[in-house]
Amino acid sequence: MTATQDAPAVDPRPAAALDPEALVDRIGAGHRLTADEAVAVLDAPDADTFRIVAAASRLREKHFGRTVKVNYLVSLKTGLCPENCTYCSQRLGTEAEILRYTWLKPEEAVRQAGLGIAGGASRVCMVASGTGPTDRDVDRVAGMVGDLKAQHPDVEVCACLGFLKDGQAEKLKDAGVDAYNHNLNTAESHYESICTSHTYEQRVDTVQRAGAAGLSSCSGLIAGMGETHEQLVEAVLALRDLDSDSIPVNFLMPFDGTPLQGHQQLTPLECLRILAMVRLACPDKELRIAGGREMHLRSLQPVGLQVANSIFLGDYLTSEGQDAEADLAMIADAGYTVLGADTAAAPGADDAAASSSGGCCGSGGCGGEGEPTAEAGADVVIPDEPTPDIADPAAGGPAAPKPELRRRGAGTDAPANA
Ligand code: SF4
Repeated sequence: MTATQDAPAVDPRPAAALDPEALVDRIGAGHRLTADEAVAVLDAPDADTFRIVAAASRLREKHFGRTVKVNYLVSLKTGLCPENCTYCSQRLGTEAEILRYTWLKPEEAVRQAGLGIAGGASRVCMVASGTGPTDRDVDRVAGMVGDLKAQHPDVEVCACLGFLKDGQAEKLKDAGVDAYNHNLNTAESHYESICTSHTYEQRVDTVQRAGAAGLSSCSGLIAGMGETHEQLVEAVLALRDLDSDSIPVNFLMPFDGTPLQGHQQLTPLECLRILAMVRLACPDKELRIAGGREMHLRSLQPVGLQVANSIFLGDYLTSEGQDAEADLAMIADAGYTVLGADTAAAPGADDAAASSSGGCCGSGGCGGEGEPTAEAGADVVIPDEPTPDIADPAAGGPAAPKPELRRRGAGTDAPANA
């Protein structure tokens, strides 16, 4: 007998007391996933995961057919944030060797966005780091959006600028912004563990301000920050209560130089269960696999598309994604169609496939007050050395690659990955 045959079961958890097919039947008939059911999905053994994904894929196909929405990030301003979010490579005092630059010039922002659109993106997410925008920042972004829409009238624009103050959401809406991203990131009960410079309630307030102004609400989470399954469920049900139109699910990229450096609690199958749980909780909402897709799903990325209907093309805010061509090939190889590439939605898709909206932020990212306003290029910091490929697998599982710091696209002279 081989060593493999002698080995004890890797997964000691009991078989799930969960019938995913029956659960999906009930959800299809109007049942709302309960917290206990959601936790049962996350607690399910590895061996049951593909059954759960297959069941949840029925909801994905019912609402979105076999389309994948492709989104493209433009980081208008990177780094230099005064907030202390532990997961973020742009946080106060970070030693992460990310690009740092102030506002892109408007023509450069529009040019960068055009590269993503040419690559198949139907939505551009315009992101600026920091606490929240000044009114001048809002005017700046409004101008960029006007220029972008003049060249690309059909593209959807999502802004992600941080906490909004009175009148700012309305001004963005008037400028042609379609959606606003502001992630809850984690459960209220876990929030103080990941950030103390602002509150969970402040995040909820901005999501609500955006929605009240008529902007499509995009708000999601970051999994893998030390939260429990119950807290992940708490966060997702809070997003459901906020009626977020689009839910980006990030998997923590534990950048060196941040407090969560080296933290690893996710496996590819765990990530699939998280995505399936979100789909079951929010069957008709845009579910985006966001930052950390390549690092944590690894070879199971296309399986994630069975439940998620949206991804980012190419790179993230401060890290590099897989090549954009590989993203598009993955979509095609898995039998999906890029939304907008073929104007006829796949059979079975309801209206949500064409009208759903989402947002951005590979791992957070917001706009700052009182930041220097020199145009981009003046103070870009480009790291000298490449990041090592392999992280220490703290959890004892297989090693996850480290984030590969972004050195191309917006804020650099190198071609964008689009
Ligand atoms: S997530 Fe946003 S607010 Fe928090 S540190 Fe990063 S850029 Fe700043």
